[in-house]
Amino acid sequence: MSASESAAKSKFVLRTNQIQALIDFLRERGYRTAGPTIRDCAVIYDEINNAEQIPLGVADEQEAGFYRVKKRKEAGYFSYVVGAHSWKKFLNPPRFTLWKAKMDNGEMSLVVDEPQAVPHYAFIGVRPCEIAAIAVQDRVYLDGPYVDNLYKERRSAIAIIAVNCAHPGGTCFCVSMDTGPEAKSGFDLALTEIQETNRHLFVATTGSDLGVEIAKALKLEPATPDDIADEAATIKRAAGKMGRKIDTSHINELLQRNEDHPRWNHVGDRCLNCANCTMVCPTCFCMTVEDTTDITGKTAERSRRWDSCFTIEFSHIHGGAVRTSASARYRHWMTHKLASWQDQFGVSGCVGCGRCITWCPVGIDITEEAAAIRASSRGE
Ligand code: SF4
Ligand code: SF4
Repeated sequence: MSASESAAKSKFVLRTNQIQALIDFLRERGYRTAGPTIRDCAVIYDEINNAEQIPLGVADEQEAGFYRVKKRKEAGYFSYVVGAHSWKKFLNPPRFTLWKAKMDNGEMSLVVDEPQAVPHYAFIGVRPCEIAAIAVQDRVYLDGPYVDNLYKERRSAIAIIAVNCAHPGGTCFCVSMDTGPEAKSGFDLALTEIQETNRHLFVATTGSDLGVEIAKALKLEPATPDDIADEAATIKRAAGKMGRKIDTSHINELLQRNEDHPRWNHVGDRCLNCANCTMVCPTCFCMTVEDTTDITGKTAERSRRWDSCFTIEFSHIHGGAVRTSASARYRHWMTHKLASWQDQFGVSGCVGCGRCITWCPVGIDITEEAAAIRASSRGE
């Protein structure tokens, strides 16, 4: 993304009947287009090549341990927020085969598959908190001493069509984490859906040379002062409708000095150690390497796959696990997200997307847990 500052800030109008042209343009440029669509009664991310796959007229309801999508007459193209999927599944696949081997006449040999082209995606409908999450994962996979090539190859050529949030979910708290509801950078084009009785359009802000090319290719009209005022009002309204909030002041010190707080046992008694929170979290990056064989023992495979600090094996260090209780595992996860991540990577590991709250089967809420510890904190 190397647009000049003036190009980066230009605002246009994208009509709803131009969404297909946007998808077509990106596909002609060689991108595989991925975006929100409906499957199994939920908004998920998948490859899409048709504007009709985007769930028009759908809104979502989210609360702790609760998710529903509903058809609503007044809902637009992006009247829901994030679901259980995040873009990390495209940038760091949940399971990836590193190598395969087979046994023939007692001899083991490596199976070399034809190299597959690395998919380059255009992500359509990326929320501001998700742009922040991708930036967090960049720090982990790209900016440290060990660069992850699998991630780098996928990350290096993505296009991001962001969508600013107009209808935050019941578990969203991006305002507290300063990651939304408006995308400020990190996108090629950012859309804000304006939906009124007789008007349905997107205000499109260019954020890169690609964004400028899209505006030219689709012959987008410049946004009028009224359009820009409506966009600002939409974002302001959204900022005032966050379902959750969290006090982040001195949160690193707060959690570090409360490692023995009784609240960790309270949450540990409820936690099922199912790892849902880490699977849905767009910033969680832990993985493991696993060897498997088929039932005959004739083929073997080494894969890397997502792992979770909520599994007991994850903290296994010669002789046993070091985090043996649910309370220790939850404390480790939450303290890492909100506190020690700042020491490690210079940013919070939480972007306020709310997924871990919505998809926790027992409704454990990171904002509630942080508030409970703050309310009866040990020491200063
Ligand atoms: S910790 Fe929860 S709210 Fe924060 S980024 Fe992860 S899933 Fe979203
Ligand atoms: S906090 Fe909730 S989602 Fe996470 S491991 Fe515990 S029960 Fe599962």
